[in-house]
Amino acid sequence: MTHARVTEPGIASVTNAMTVDVEDYFQVSAFESYVDKAQWQTWPRRVEGNTLRILELFATHEVRATFFMLGWVAERYPDLVKKIVSGGHEIASHGWEHVRVNTQSPAEFRKDIDRTRKFLQDVSGEPILGYRAASYSIGASEGWAWEQLAEAGHRYSSSIVPIKHDLYGIPGAPRFAFDTVGGRLLEIPITTVPLAGRNINCGGGGWFRLFPYSFSRWALSRVNDVDRQAGIFYFHPWEIDPEQPRPQGLGLRTRFRHYLNLDRTYSRLNRLLKDFRWGRMDEIFLGSEVRR
Ligand SMILES: [Zn+2]
Repeated sequence: MTHARVTEPGIASVTNAMTVDVEDYFQVSAFESYVDKAQWQTWPRRVEGNTLRILELFATHEVRATFFMLGWVAERYPDLVKKIVSGGHEIASHGWEHVRVNTQSPAEFRKDIDRTRKFLQDVSGEPILGYRAASYSIGASEGWAWEQLAEAGHRYSSSIVPIKHDLYGIPGAPRFAFDTVGGRLLEIPITTVPLAGRNINCGGGGWFRLFPYSFSRWALSRVNDVDRQAGIFYFHPWEIDPEQPRPQGLGLRTRFRHYLNLDRTYSRLNRLLKDFRWGRMDEIFLGSEVRR
C-alpha cells in the first residue's frame, strides 16, 4: 500500500513577494466620484494605525515585505516611513496622490513619479527602486510609462494585472515578470492562476476577501509548485479595518467591493503569512546586488 506524499503548500521552494499599498480608505480609485480630492484633509485618517498593525503582524511572522507608499501619506507620516524601514522592509512608490496613469500625460506622470521618488528617498534614506501604479493603471496603451519609470531611476514596476476587468487589466500580458524598455525595467504582474480558459486574480485585494481562503491557498500553491514562480500578493491597510468611516451615497457595486469581508481579512492574512514563505520585491526580483 502506498501513501500520497503530503507536503505543505509552497513552503519548500519559493519565496513569494508580500506587498502593501499604503493609502487610506478615502483615497481609493473606486471612491473618486464620491470623495473629492480637495476634501481628503477633512476625512479622519486611519492609515497610520492600520499600517502599524500590519507591521506588528509581519514582525510576528518574521516576514519582510514591500510597502508601496503614496507621497501624500509619507509627507504626513514620515515617522511611519522610518518605522517601516527599521522593520527591515522595502519602501517603494505608489505615486503622490493616487492618480491613475491612464489619466495623465507622460509629462504629468514624470513629474509625479520624480516628486514621489525623491521625497520617499529623502525620508527613508533608502534607494526607491519600485513603483506601483494607482489601480494597476498601466494598460495596453500606457507602455510609455515604463520608459518614464526607467528614466526616473526605477528598476521595477508592479503595475499590471493580466486579466479582463472593467477597471483595469491587460488580458494578454504575461503572467510572470518580464523585461521592458530593453531590459532596463522589470514589470512584475500581480499573480493570477489560469482557470477554465481565463486568468483569475489570486494576488490579493478584493479577490482575497471574496473567495474562501482555501482558494487563495490552492492558487498560490499551484503558482509555486506547478509554475515554479514567486507569487505577488497585495493588500491595503484599510482592508483590515472594518471600523473605517463610510462615505454616504456609494453605488451598490462599489460598496460590495470595498466592504466585503473586511472583518475576515486580518485572520486570513495571518494564515497566508504562516502557510507560505514571504519576502521583499527587490530581494526576490533584483537579486543579490540590493540584498543586505
Ligand atoms: Zn492604490
